[in-house]
Amino acid sequence: MPRVLLVEDEPAIADTLVYALETECFEVRHALTGAEALAAAARETFDFAILDIGLPDMTGLDVCRRLRENSVIPVLFLTARAGEVDRILGLELGGDDYVTKPFSPREIVARVRAILRRSQPSPTPQAEPIVGEGKVLHHDSAAMRVHCHGEPLDLTAHEYKLLLVLLGRPGRVFTRDQLLEYAWQDPGAVTDRTIDAHVKSIRAKLRAVRVGAEDLIQTRRGLGYLLASEI
Ligand code: CA
Repeated sequence: MPRVLLVEDEPAIADTLVYALETECFEVRHALTGAEALAAAARETFDFAILDIGLPDMTGLDVCRRLRENSVIPVLFLTARAGEVDRILGLELGGDDYVTKPFSPREIVARVRAILRRSQPSPTPQAEPIVGEGKVLHHDSAAMRVHCHGEPLDLTAHEYKLLLVLLGRPGRVFTRDQLLEYAWQDPGAVTDRTIDAHVKSIRAKLRAVRVGAEDLIQTRRGLGYLLASEI
């Protein structure tokens, strides 16, 4: 049973969501504030988080940032204002989605299912490189997708650009500043931590295909990241 962390301070909205999710066989932990949610996340594991943006003590975006320090948990944001959507899109933390209020509980359940499906490991991962290609990673430039062992990776735009930079020069170390410069149009808006969060997310997506294999993206402590040269 997938476990959902729901953070919503309006009881009426929370109640309908809890009911809808539980009816669809999700186990729901409801928190009224960001602090309560973070405390729950520190104690328990969740497969998914639904975060209201407007919370009494912090924003849902803050909650997301804090959750992402320790996990790659997929997030669905609930937002009441169009202005908030820009901020969510600006985050680009990977695999996430948002819905604007008012919404139907049914819609939420459908989105949660879709995101969980995307973030789940492939049931039949291939352990060997693609025969004929001789490569673990393959870039389809026309489709703007990167395949790993033949499986297309579901990357966000920034994850895709970041991976492309590394893919362009396997074995070469890129500093976080270089990665920001090459993969972000407006690097002023983001920090070194953004790179770390994206690398973490790409690694998780690669791991889902390459179960048990070594990370393709290697960390060179104090310097930056590189892609294993034997890709
Ligand atoms: Ca609210």
